[in-house]
Amino acid sequence: MSARPLLNRRLAGLGTTIFAEMSALATSTGSINLGQGFPDTDGPAEIARAAADAVLTGRGNQYPPGPGIPELRQAVAEHQQRFYGLDWDPDTEVLVTAGATEAIAAAMLALLEPGDEVIAFEPFYDSYAACIAMAGATRVPLTLRAPSFRPDLDELRALITPRTRLLLVNTPHNPTGLVLHAEELAEIARLAVEHDLLVVTDEVYEHLAFSGGHHPIAALPGMRERTVSISSAGKTFSFTGWKVGWVTAAPALVSAVRTAKQYLTYVSAGPFQYAVAEALRLPDSYFDTLRADLRRKRDLLADGLTAAGFGVFTPEGTYFITTDITPLGEKDGLEFCRSLPARCGVVAIPNVVFYDDTEAGRPLVRFTFCKQDAVLEEAVARLQRL
Ligand code: PMP
Ligand code: GLN
Repeated sequence: MSARPLLNRRLAGLGTTIFAEMSALATSTGSINLGQGFPDTDGPAEIARAAADAVLTGRGNQYPPGPGIPELRQAVAEHQQRFYGLDWDPDTEVLVTAGATEAIAAAMLALLEPGDEVIAFEPFYDSYAACIAMAGATRVPLTLRAPSFRPDLDELRALITPRTRLLLVNTPHNPTGLVLHAEELAEIARLAVEHDLLVVTDEVYEHLAFSGGHHPIAALPGMRERTVSISSAGKTFSFTGWKVGWVTAAPALVSAVRTAKQYLTYVSAGPFQYAVAEALRLPDSYFDTLRADLRRKRDLLADGLTAAGFGVFTPEGTYFITTDITPLGEKDGLEFCRSLPARCGVVAIPNVVFYDDTEAGRPLVRFTFCKQDAVLEEAVARLQRL
């Protein structure tokens, strides 16, 4: 074999995702997994039954249509109208994907040329860096800094260059829990219009904004034609293994993203698409209860982490809490997370892996609270022993 590395240079250094590493550590040590964000209780039984019925009655067992089944595209459009007053044509402005993950990948591969710059909030969700790299583009971080993690929009303005092609927005934001406020979104939108930039917005936690609500940037003046909005069923309906996601955007953008998407998976999750179409039509009480439950769990975990000595940054959204470990006399989040299972049987995620500015991320550690109360209480009891 030649000495040339097997992994191509764009992917060099990306290694195994932190979620896979930490979930494997939780399994091998029997620890409580507050690392990878997946609920330990499945979503609504009637939605699970809808998926089973679809399999048993032969709906979606063969390749579904490339853009997604019409029932789901219609349900996505209705959901966007119901919650945000946005009108999308289900035939030309909605695309079903294999989770938000594929939507992000397809958007980057479709919309970027080698040499383009993408400005994204740092810490970045891990697949952003990988997908920007696979597209041959360059990521330009706008660092969100503790304690508020609010973006500095003067800094954003200063980061825009003639090579900037796209702003990659994520609200509610993983891992900090930041929810962009209406004025921040308005300024981001204004900059996008002024500099003729595309915006890709990852809104998978759209129903987990605990105060002030979630505001889609696509609704702002001048944004409809330049925004690719991405969401998915995983977090909203507690079925993260189904991997049903979607894009809403103007026809030319959907068409570009679909061109890439059709050569990634072509299609996926046929029967689950029928079930998610039903889930999106659940009454408001479903979404309100999900949010209220997770808000309560947030407070339970935040209080426990505070009592255990962590510096706690209470999130406005998502199901993650970012903490500072320096009050515990610790400095290095990666080392801390690797030793935590042996020290007290809990797994967490070191935020540093989501940063280019590793100094900004080094002491930060993320815990998820999408777990049963008893599990959170046991985790907190264990963490008190630190
Ligand atoms: N974006 C963010 C910010 C996430 O936290 C996740 C994890 N759910 C995803 C995208 C991926 O979503 P999916 O599981 O639907 O691919
Ligand atoms: N989105 C989940 C998290 O942030 C993990 C998804 C994954 O494992 N890729 O924890």
